[in-house]
Amino acid sequence: MSEEKLPSRNENYSEWYNQLVQRAELADYAPVRGCMVIRPYGWALWENIQAGLDRRFKATGHVNAAFPLLIPMSFLEKEKEHVAGFSPELAIVTIGGGEKLEEPLVIRPTSETIIGHMYAKWIKSYRDLPVLINQWGNVVRWEMRTRLFLRTLEFYWQEGHTAHATYEEAEEETLRMLNVYADFAINDAAVPVITGRKSQSEKFAGAQRSYAIEAMMGDTRALQAGTSHNLGQNFAKAFNIQYLDTKNLLQYCWTTSWGLSTRFVGAIIMTHGDDQGLILPPKLAPIQVVVVPIYKNDIEKSLVMTKVEEIKNQLADFRIKVDDRSEITPGFKFNDWELRGVPIRVEIGPKDVEKNSVMTARRDIPGKAGKSSVPNDQISHHVAKLLVDIQASLLERATAFRDANIFDPKDYPAFKDVIEHGWALSWWCGDAECEAKIKEDTKATTRCIPFEQQAGAGTCIYCGKPANEKVYFARAY
Ligand SMILES: [Zn+2]
Repeated sequence: MSEEKLPSRNENYSEWYNQLVQRAELADYAPVRGCMVIRPYGWALWENIQAGLDRRFKATGHVNAAFPLLIPMSFLEKEKEHVAGFSPELAIVTIGGGEKLEEPLVIRPTSETIIGHMYAKWIKSYRDLPVLINQWGNVVRWEMRTRLFLRTLEFYWQEGHTAHATYEEAEEETLRMLNVYADFAINDAAVPVITGRKSQSEKFAGAQRSYAIEAMMGDTRALQAGTSHNLGQNFAKAFNIQYLDTKNLLQYCWTTSWGLSTRFVGAIIMTHGDDQGLILPPKLAPIQVVVVPIYKNDIEKSLVMTKVEEIKNQLADFRIKVDDRSEITPGFKFNDWELRGVPIRVEIGPKDVEKNSVMTARRDIPGKAGKSSVPNDQISHHVAKLLVDIQASLLERATAFRDANIFDPKDYPAFKDVIEHGWALSWWCGDAECEAKIKEDTKATTRCIPFEQQAGAGTCIYCGKPANEKVYFARAY
């Protein structure tokens, strides 16, 4: 801990992020370049993310399983686009138990191949379908430029893998899971994501169609926060995932995969954080309420701590922490818990004991405006209401920020200007060449093609040819 202030977001956004992740004790750098250690506070946040998602996966009929970390190299080579997309990022094991391996093993960068191999063994008939499995695990992708949570060599995630009898069912599943991600992001994380389809050049290596939830960070850059892929029959054909249909004819399955990773922690930090530190959405915050006792001497201490115990019991339904560290001042504790983004602080001093009340302060509204004095017997009700209010106001604030930074530039010069400070929702002809040129000129990529399209057609923001879809363009993490 240190009392030094964070760099402000305006001054240096990237330094603000890096310092915040470490000082809030979410994660730290590991000895191997590009790897990270997720610290208990960061892991507790991830556990709450996992719980919110896992509940939704099970409610939509999925079950969890675990597949191995090591995959035969030959498996990856079976799907051409897949291996081309992933080979620059592979970590490969060539020696095991002191012996050179006959076949190198890949540390999974994702698990389509090994799961495809197993599905080929398990699926025999239409009666076995659909298969709806999710796995929670870690993967390794040898990234060159890494950032804590956003892009690391090894990261944690979940990957859903499903197999279906028809294209329609696979497409329905792909969209269902995209909407599960959106529902989680919006309602649990208060991150107002936009859903849509990925362009051909931005899709997953080996997918027929990819969809994503895209979020706007506090510096207006985009972050792909979760993806859902319709894999068509690409992996089914590469791995012989076949079933006998009702007419006893052999058919290839249609498969999907979908994933959301610890990167989402970065999305939460950069959507809600301010110059004082994190602001965590109450539904996911590891600590929802922190109680800070305030006293000057032993007599006050004993009065205050008795009351702290009472309040703690009244707030037992919430994730609560009493900061009873005696070696540091209340002022220091306030800053520390602000930095860590705890939604509500409860202050209890001798005056509060006298008045039979406590002081609450909300993290999302700094200073006096966010404080209220609450009678003892109303604290539980008040905290419950405050958490709901904070959750709603974070979403409202982030949505307003997002909408204020999405533009509809009238021509390409205006587009280039917009990309410097926001997103452009522009007509695009669909040509990969225009997309590539725009990327070269502005570093902006197509983020997603939203489902909701205005009626009519326009002209491509780059080449001026007819276009019938509008696309979000932005610089991305
Ligand atoms: Zn064009």
